[in-house]
Amino acid sequence: MKLLEGKVAIITGGTRGIGFEIVRTFLENGAKVALCGSRQETADKAAAKLREENPEWEIEAIAPDLSDPASVKEAFTAVKDKWGRIDVLGNNAGISARDSLYEYDPEDFKRLMDLNVNSVFYGIQAVAPIMKEQGGGSIINTSSMVGRYGQPRGCAYPTSKFAVNGLTLSLARELAPDGIRVNAVSPGVTHTDMVDNLPESVIQPLIASIPLGRMGTPKDIANAYLFLASDMSSYISGQILGVDGLSRP
Ligand code: NAD
Repeated sequence: MKLLEGKVAIITGGTRGIGFEIVRTFLENGAKVALCGSRQETADKAAAKLREENPEWEIEAIAPDLSDPASVKEAFTAVKDKWGRIDVLGNNAGISARDSLYEYDPEDFKRLMDLNVNSVFYGIQAVAPIMKEQGGGSIINTSSMVGRYGQPRGCAYPTSKFAVNGLTLSLARELAPDGIRVNAVSPGVTHTDMVDNLPESVIQPLIASIPLGRMGTPKDIANAYLFLASDMSSYISGQILGVDGLSRP
């Protein structure tokens, strides 16, 4: 029996990195998955790559504007109309930042918060009534270890992840009576494009500080997502699960 057999999931930021691996892991485990990208073209490409791996996987490529609540609602409702339900929402899309406070453009700060925080709120608001009506669901947000400890530059990024943790803890309480679980996965340094874009002078000290001695992989994060999406975690809500090799920056 596959862990997500019969479940329908929506994963934002599914075109590459951590999100792509979450989508693949969910498909391997029997879910139908709506893969969200920032552009329809990149979402279609990612879905085509997965269909090449296994033509039987049921994937829908979508590209709502995550900064627009109406666009998010329309796209997620269309997923419900297509497959009849929504069991899992993975709010994974995110961007990082490295600007110092002295040079930070307030518009960049707003843009980051729009994607990393506001879109999480819009997504949950769109799916919660659907999950409530069907008797429950699982919402999983991608946080970050810097959402516990802060970081020395790019203050919008850790700030956004503190907010994601706040949404997770608060909405877990608010939505528990409706059978909706809300958890977060909090990756440490994970080997994706986001990390490849950082200078070596930043990456090497980070790896050296990880007690388990290596960077995380997208699969490490996807496995935590799989557990929180499945009924194996049916009594777990309001948790921020660190998948970080015990990193404490
Ligand atoms: P990535 O850059 O490889 O992928 C980011 C994803 O977000 C892509 O699918 C992209 O299409 C999507 N995205 C970016 N801007 C978007 C927009 N405006 N609208 C819609 N989608 C947009 O990054 P990743 O490393 O896979 O990160 C995924 C999540 O994990 C993020 O929330 C990130 O903050 C978090 N995270 C990553 C690390 C790490 O070390 N890689 C560590 C902690 C947390």
